[in-house]
Parts: sequence; C-alpha cells; structure tokens
Amino acid sequence: MAQRVDLIIVGAGMAGLSAAAEAADHGASVLVLEKEAECGGSSLLSGRYMAFAGTDLQEAAGFDDTPESLVADMLAVGEGKNETALVEAYGRHQLETYSWLKTKGVQFHAVQAVSGHSIPRGHQITPAQAIETLKLSAEASGKVRVLTEAPVRRLKKNSDGRVTTVVYEQDGTEFEAEATHGILLTAGGFSRSKQLLSDVAPQLDGAIRIGGKGNVGDGIRMAVEQGAWTRDYAYLKGTYGFHPTADGPRKSQALAFYKGAIIVNKEARRFVNESISYKLIGTEALRQENGETYQIWDQDVMDAGVEGDALYDFRKLLDLGLIESAPSLDALAARMNLPAGELKKTVADYNAAVRNDNDVFGRRTLTHHFGKPVVLDRAPFYAMRTTVAMLATYAGVAVNEQAQVLNPFGEPIDGLFSAGEMVGGFHGAGYMTGSSLGKAAIFGRIAVRTAIKSAVVS
Ligand SMILES: Cc1cc2nc3c(=O)[nH]c(=O)nc-3n(C[C@H](O)[C@H](O)[C@H](O)COP(=O)(O)OP(=O)(O)OC[C@H]3O[C@@H](n4cnc5c(N)ncnc54)[C@H](O)[C@@H]3O)c2cc1C
Repeated sequence: MAQRVDLIIVGAGMAGLSAAAEAADHGASVLVLEKEAECGGSSLLSGRYMAFAGTDLQEAAGFDDTPESLVADMLAVGEGKNETALVEAYGRHQLETYSWLKTKGVQFHAVQAVSGHSIPRGHQITPAQAIETLKLSAEASGKVRVLTEAPVRRLKKNSDGRVTTVVYEQDGTEFEAEATHGILLTAGGFSRSKQLLSDVAPQLDGAIRIGGKGNVGDGIRMAVEQGAWTRDYAYLKGTYGFHPTADGPRKSQALAFYKGAIIVNKEARRFVNESISYKLIGTEALRQENGETYQIWDQDVMDAGVEGDALYDFRKLLDLGLIESAPSLDALAARMNLPAGELKKTVADYNAAVRNDNDVFGRRTLTHHFGKPVVLDRAPFYAMRTTVAMLATYAGVAVNEQAQVLNPFGEPIDGLFSAGEMVGGFHGAGYMTGSSLGKAAIFGRIAVRTAIKSAVVS
C-alpha cells in the first residue's frame, strides 16, 4: 500500500527545504524526496545572494530601500515580460520571508551591490549553512521525513483527476506515496541537461554547464505530463563572468566589470555596455568569435575586490592563476595573446569616454543605475579569460501567485504546486541576481500555505 502524508515535496534545494520548514510550522506530515545523495541542488553551489528590500542589514549599511523599488527593478530587468502578479507577490512576501529565514537560523552576512538592482540588495548567505539549517528545522518537527537517493519518476492522478501520487525509486525498488493536501515540485531547472538545453535554446550550445547534478528537467517533464503549460524558454540565457574551467570542481567567477573592468573580444575591442545584466552580456559574448572574451582592469578595480566573496574575490583567482597581471597594457596583451595596439587604444578610448561621460556603448554606471565608471590607468593591469555558463534555467512550468501549476488555459491543475527554478514566467526577459534563491524560498512557502488552506476548505 502507498504511504500517505499531507504533502509530498519533490527536490530538496532552497525551494523544497523552505517549503518543508514552512510545512513543519503548520504541523503537516511531509515526505521530501531528493534524487541525489546530498540535499541542496544548485542552491548549494550558488553565488549566495538573496534579493530582499527594506532589511535591517540594508538599514545598517545606510541603504534606504522599498519593496516597490525592488518590484520596479524586477519588471524593468525582465523588460515587462514577467508575470506582474508573480513579481508583486515576491514584493509582498519578501521581507517577511527574510525575517522567517532568520528565525529559522539562516545567517545573512552582508549586503552587496549585485546585477539588476538600483540599490545594494544582494544579501549574502552561506548556502551550506542555509540548506542544513532549513533541513534540520523541518525535521525537528518530527513530521518531516527527507529521503535522499530517492528520485521521483512519475506523478499520477486519482479517479477525480487530482494529482495525488508520486512514483519514486530507492535502492532499485519502486515505491508509491500519496499526498492528501498536494504535491509540490521543487526539482530545479535543467542547466545540466545538454540535450534539453540544446533542444530549446541551441544558441547556448557554446556555454559551459554548471548546476546541481540532478538538475536535468525531471520536474518540468513530470508537470508537463500532468498537463502543465510552460513559459519563458525564449528568454533562456547564460551567465557571463566565469573562467572557462568553471565547469570543473571550482566554480571560478569574477564580475570585475561591475567594479569597473571593461570586456573585450579577441580583437581587444569592446562590444557591450558592461553595466547591464550579466545575462544580457552573456548573449553578446556568445556572439563573439569562438565566444572568446576577456575582462580587463587596473589596480584600482583590483582594490575594489572583496575577499571571501563569490563574485568579487579577484585576489583569490589571481593566486589560483586564473587571472593574469602585467605592469603595462602591452605586456598584458602579450600574455593574453591579444593585439597590443588595439588593447591600448580600446582602454584609452574608454578612459576618455569615462571622463567625458559619452561612452559609445552607453555605459553610465558600474551596475544597473549604481556607481560611476572609473578610468583604467593604474598599473599593474589585469585580465581574465571569461566565458558564459548555463548555471540556471529560469524557464519552466506556469504557476499563479499561489504557486498552483497552471494548464494551457491558465487553470490550476488540482493537487499540483511548484516553486523555485523549475517555474517559468517570473523573470521574463532578464534575471536579476538574488531573485532565484529569493523566489525559491518565498514561493516554496506560499505553495505550502495554499496547499494547506485548500485542504482545509475542501
Ligand atoms: C554557480 C551558481 C551560482 C548561483 N548564484 C545565485 C545567486 O547568487 N543568487 C540566486 O538567487 N541564484 C543563484 N543561482 C541560481 C540558484 O542557485 C538556483 O536557481 C536556485 O538555487 C534553485 O533552487 P531550487 O530549490 O529551485 O533548485 P535546486 O536547489 O537545484 O534544488 C532542486 C533539487 O531537486 C532535485 N531533483 C531533481 N530531480 C529530481 C527528481 N526527479 N526527484 C527528486 N529530486 C529531484 C535536485 O537533485 C536538487 O537537489 C546560482 C546558481 C549556480 C549554479
């Protein structure tokens, strides 16, 4: 006979474990099924920023922020292609989720300026600490069971057409489990599926692939089989800023361009406004010959690096030999095999444009509406060969603001919920840093509340 619980959660990353901890708060019985041996998925590998507005950390740092400003930035970066109701739900629930995460024991260390935000909103967590804390908090209720190495294969409907059952595998045996309140799919995206990526976004074939090992689109496939509509494949983009070796054990990333570096192609020519979203920069970078591009900066930008930070610890990458340095631009060009005359001209033109505020690519800020570009003239100079990585796929099943999965007619599929990276419609045409971990926690919790509320009413 199938096991029976209130809720089944498929996938134990930020979305699934936030949902599990929320369900524990409501006293619900929960079965969490995780495919891999370790919980955490892409959340564990993440750059560690969560986007929140109006927090104590921002206040302490002197940043006056509002949910309305966060929502406006998200819609602007998404070019208005995002589902406004989802973005507004993020705005309404984000500060409360930040406080809730803190009460659960998730630690927030600092706030940084990150891509897409007009004010510093990247709240830094330690992913392993957050994942472990949420898991322990859920399990402490005594009613949440987390099974690892338990991949869910398929979902089933009951005779009333409600999705009630999961078929999962453990130790080579197939089991069924049934949920009375609902099934929540939080199985992440498909950044590790070469085939699915190539099917829906062949323009990204040149990108390296990073992300949770189990993130190959299982959740999306299972939801689609139950009648889910999908959204946002057209907006799939890679993330610019990774060293070409980042698909190995080290996820080496440096966003020196948001501290003032320029980006050039193999002809040592700029091709993009470096302050725009690193997703949009990624699209332009893949259009360059062989997708070959370099970040170039000087000692002042180097000094703006942040030790221990996932995106801005330039010194660490220099020590690892992933960044080159040289006393002059000529020497740097020789080291990187770039045309020296062209590199010098590019930097000189750029410095003149910074001084005159008339950049040909329209750069007026360091990141989106934040900071002032700086001239690159203080030796030594630095360069990092930089590429595009698919580390997340912000496209997938359609949901409403209650996290119910929708069919092609916009109607909820009875019993089926979804949250996190496998959901489409939230980011629209562009993603801003911190909003994926943020939405995973926010909508994971919303899904649980909806499932519990609808179970009480029905
Ligand atoms: C290098 C890197 C840096 C990033 N930096 C940031 C950042 O700074 N800020 C930000 O907001 N976002 C960032 N992201 C994106 C963000 O980490 C993810 O979008 C987010 O963590 C997704 O959370 P999730 O819970 O939806 O999925 P995940 O955390 O990926 O969890 C999904 C889980 O589902 C499991 N699963 C899959 N299939 C099945 C199945 N069939 N049965 C059972 N379990 C299954 C997976 O194994 C996985 O553990 C980054 C991603 C990467 C890779």
